[in-house]
Amino acid sequence: ISDEKKELMDLIEALDVELIHLQFTDIIGIPKNVTIMAHQLNKVLESGITFDGSSIDGFVRVEESDMYLRPDITTFTVFPWTSSPKEARMICDVYNMDGTPFEGCPRYILKQAVKESEALGYTMNVGPECEFFLFHTDSNGVPSLEVHDQASYFDLAPMDMGGNARNDISLTLKQMGFKIEASHHEVAPGQHEIDFEYADALKTADNIMTFKMVVRIIAQRHGLHATFMPKPHIGISGSGMHLNISLSNPNGTNAFYDPKDELQMSSTAYHFLGGLLTHAKAFTALTNPTVNSYKRLVPGYEAPILIAWSLSNRSPLIRVPSGRSESTRLELRSPDPSANPYLALAATLKAGLDGIKNKIEPPAQISNNLYEYSDTEIDELNIERLPSNLYEALKEFSQSATMREAIGDHAFKRYKEAAMYEWNEYSKYVSQWELNRYLRKF
Ligand code: GLU
Ligand code: MG
Ligand code: MG
Repeated sequence: ISDEKKELMDLIEALDVELIHLQFTDIIGIPKNVTIMAHQLNKVLESGITFDGSSIDGFVRVEESDMYLRPDITTFTVFPWTSSPKEARMICDVYNMDGTPFEGCPRYILKQAVKESEALGYTMNVGPECEFFLFHTDSNGVPSLEVHDQASYFDLAPMDMGGNARNDISLTLKQMGFKIEASHHEVAPGQHEIDFEYADALKTADNIMTFKMVVRIIAQRHGLHATFMPKPHIGISGSGMHLNISLSNPNGTNAFYDPKDELQMSSTAYHFLGGLLTHAKAFTALTNPTVNSYKRLVPGYEAPILIAWSLSNRSPLIRVPSGRSESTRLELRSPDPSANPYLALAATLKAGLDGIKNKIEPPAQISNNLYEYSDTEIDELNIERLPSNLYEALKEFSQSATMREAIGDHAFKRYKEAAMYEWNEYSKYVSQWELNRYLRKF
């Protein structure tokens, strides 16, 4: 037994942890979990724990269903909201029975992309900005469609009625090792944002999964329902998950910064930007995976619709925030929090690296508000649009060799199947909008 394991066992004993949740993520981005008793841990660390892979979305067929999990002990975290005996969790990697990593495991997929990046001499760092809504629940705890306040951007109590829940979430995350930077009420009623410090891609993807779990659990303890659904209500802002992306060099310096350039951006930054713009249509199916995601990508709500970039404006796909030197970064504004963060980061990293490898130069930046452009102006300027629904996004995704490479054959195929199923189910549905529109008219 290694020192690391011994240390972990001692910690578990000292903290009175009895239940350990072993977590992983399916292909759709849904967290999964199997709980063991603390006394089982040694055995699980030695030989993993088997599960039925055919019951997990996007994994394997019944014929080859046995798989196993190996906990990553660096992800050990105690759940601060549990009392004695306490509960903790570890994030796991998924393996085939023959001991090889499962190529459809989202965490493995991201690790592969990270490896490729490291081989080129770059570490990807990502700071996500996760937005979410808080809704009232009824007396049975069932979420209602009533947002819990009428406050707006940066409002405070008593307008902001989510302050208590939000602070509780921030403090809980802090106890779990997150460095919370800021939290605030967002533009829409009932909408909030909590920002935590950037980290390398894998750590950030793990953090996003933990973040979403904690937000939902703590909100529930406040009698509220937290949702990361991208656009719960028409006519008000949706929830995004902006990704602030930078690359660092092996010596830790920011590879996007070049003081000699007019905008103080390095050629690596421009090429990465070029890669993101080039593959934007293709990675949208991963960064915006639900039917509902596309209801957020409409003009007027600070969400992007056009494949362009800007220094200051919040309407295009990518913004280069004003920070330079070590904080030089690109803010990718299309992703939403329903995305599987492992796949979304693998795809965007791969897109950017392709830009670097092929020295893709981005077009000139657009400084005007793109929402004000007419369709003809957009066409004249040669600006392309993001896919306008899941079906279009899937068509672009399916044709992309870069995306296939980014997430591997297995996940590529399964993801397409799952998303197409989603689209087909949606297409068959007769909505209230159609009834309102057509029932009397025809
Ligand atoms: N809620 C906006 C979105 O859908 C973003 C608002 C902001 O800039 O923080 O992406
Ligand atoms: Mg925001
Ligand atoms: Mg932002």
